[in-house]
Amino acid sequence: MKKSAHKSTHQHFFNALTVDVEDYYMVSAFSDIVKFEDWHKYESRIENNMHRILELLDEYKVKATFFVLGWIAKHYPNLVREIHTAGHEIACHGYNHKLIYHLTHEQFREDVHTAKCIIEDIIGSQMLGYRAASYSIVKRTIWALDILIEEGFLYDSSIFPVHHDRYGFPGANRFPHVIQRKNGTIKEFPPSTFKILGQNIPMAGGGYLRLFPLPITRSMIKRINAKDNQPVTIYLHPWEVDADQPRLNGCLKSKFRHYINLSSTFPKLRSFLDEFRFRPLSEFLDTPSLWDSSTSQYAQ
Ligand SMILES: [Zn+2]
Repeated sequence: MKKSAHKSTHQHFFNALTVDVEDYYMVSAFSDIVKFEDWHKYESRIENNMHRILELLDEYKVKATFFVLGWIAKHYPNLVREIHTAGHEIACHGYNHKLIYHLTHEQFREDVHTAKCIIEDIIGSQMLGYRAASYSIVKRTIWALDILIEEGFLYDSSIFPVHHDRYGFPGANRFPHVIQRKNGTIKEFPPSTFKILGQNIPMAGGGYLRLFPLPITRSMIKRINAKDNQPVTIYLHPWEVDADQPRLNGCLKSKFRHYINLSSTFPKLRSFLDEFRFRPLSEFLDTPSLWDSSTSQYAQ
């Protein structure tokens, strides 16, 4: 499996690889059984899992975007420094993985601001991008974009144009677009979806990436690149490359979503790196063809 083996027609096209830097016990699926106050009691797996991902990316000389949780940065500043020093983009995943629709405007502002201060102190430069815990910018929390604009973020990657019980913004633009708000604009990179029979199917991250057979995901990426002429935004989490992580006892649905096909993530990631080219989200910000004629105005 050498890097040059398959990169043929898609070699010219860049996609985005994104990683949400959080540990297995912080996820929304288990937030009803793992309280934030108890996070420090759980066995930490973040450093080992991140090193596996970083080593793989280094092998392929690929740079990605890492949306770092403020709590992780506070407790593992060296890890954040290491990601940054390796040349990857550091972006913001909020402070403690609270869903935005459970927060007031002021609580959200404080969460973002706290994370921003901690992380930027470590890396010594400004973060450009933000991704909400569990894609929790939905119709009723679209106001969160105004606060991100005020906090100086240039892009967001939290609006998932799908139907889902925890997140989703049905009808939102599937591809990168500019969102016009009263107080300015922000660029949006939605996690990628594939349109089948009029439905947007999540396809490029989390449980969906683990669930779909690799050839299906590969062909969806190729189609989006070739037919839609758009980049794909892939997302994954460090705990998804850790099949041996301690099992948490949530409800059946949560366990299915969290544990399905964990051992497939790493080989799938390697296969994507073999076949496709990637760059961090920030490097798409100056690609005019992505942003011309793609302004959306969601209800204020
Ligand atoms: Zn997350």
